[in-house]
Amino acid sequence: MWESIFEAIDQQYAQMLETRRHLHRNPELSFKETKTAGFIADQYERLGIPYQKEVGGNGVVATLKGGKPGKKVALRADFDALPIHEENETDYKSTVDGVMHACGHDGHTAALLGLAEALLPYQEELPGTVVFLHQHAEEYAPGGAKPIIESGVLDDVDAVFGTHLWVDAPTGVIQTSKQEFMAGADRFHITIKGKGGHGAIPHQTKDAIVIASQLVTSLQQIVSRRLDPLSTAVLTVGTFEAGDAFNVIADSAKITGTVRTFDPQVQDTIIKEMEKIIKGTCEGCGADYDFDYYKGYPPVINHKEEAELILQDASKADPSLKTEEIPPVMAGEDFAYYLENKPGAFYFTGAQIPDHYYPHHHPKFDFDEAALPHAAKTLLQAYRSYQEK
Ligand code: MN
Repeated sequence: MWESIFEAIDQQYAQMLETRRHLHRNPELSFKETKTAGFIADQYERLGIPYQKEVGGNGVVATLKGGKPGKKVALRADFDALPIHEENETDYKSTVDGVMHACGHDGHTAALLGLAEALLPYQEELPGTVVFLHQHAEEYAPGGAKPIIESGVLDDVDAVFGTHLWVDAPTGVIQTSKQEFMAGADRFHITIKGKGGHGAIPHQTKDAIVIASQLVTSLQQIVSRRLDPLSTAVLTVGTFEAGDAFNVIADSAKITGTVRTFDPQVQDTIIKEMEKIIKGTCEGCGADYDFDYYKGYPPVINHKEEAELILQDASKADPSLKTEEIPPVMAGEDFAYYLENKPGAFYFTGAQIPDHYYPHHHPKFDFDEAALPHAAKTLLQAYRSYQEK
């Protein structure tokens, strides 16, 4: 049966292209993807597969219950676009000024819809239940994954798998990691509230620039002196604003920056150490402060056994596929939330066009459409492997 479904996926190729190009011409920004969600819902309506709309926002979740017993596994595709003006000149280029599918989410949607259509005739023979999880708003934190999980629609799901078409890998290559796969990316804002005054009378002031400078230096010591040297983290101060005049002691100073981590415990340590350093430095100098730390998406941490299924079995979906275990990448993904709740794995489906390489989120981004069936087949294979494990 599985071989027949893989063949059926290949036969869906023309349909997948049409879907991908339709979505590419009609991109919508995160949290505003109502037409896209409507289009997806219409496809399940046409196929007669039961679905729910407006899940946690614009999410669409369809369920295909197989005729044989088995586990319930969600396969996820995101569907939002980016505030980027497309610079490609293809006949399927964006028709919306300033909005573009520049990350391949149009392809994820086309692949998952193609898989649903290919799978439907085999429903009676299928073990378990497939959940087609079409997620809105991946590109803009707080994202769509969290509200979808909070809606409860995935409560009885046993595992979640997802893929990202990836132009940093050649077509035909499937990449993943058995542990940390993508980084958590956070943001912080610190305001030092000192006491300004005459540049020649420092003892009557609390110099915000001196305090903030001390802080910038001390913050560097969190990674170098407070963390285990074997753990990975970055703490970068990206902006420092203070002062109006050469002969005036600044009343306040503002610092912003980013923290990147792969381990939630390392992230917690950094936040606590930042608080201690900021509090200690400011108190010692008699200044006040505001400290705001915004947690972005957590790191994508694959579950080992499920990632192993991808690495071992992806080529069963298509003998032309090769798998590679890769070191983590610094980009973020809200797929992380699914993996905090359920076993599963996220992986890249290589989709590079060799003579047209532009990275994800570039105005000339495009991916190799020949990778669409690879994404659909490997998702099905992940489902199959999980049923059989
Ligand atoms: Mn993306």
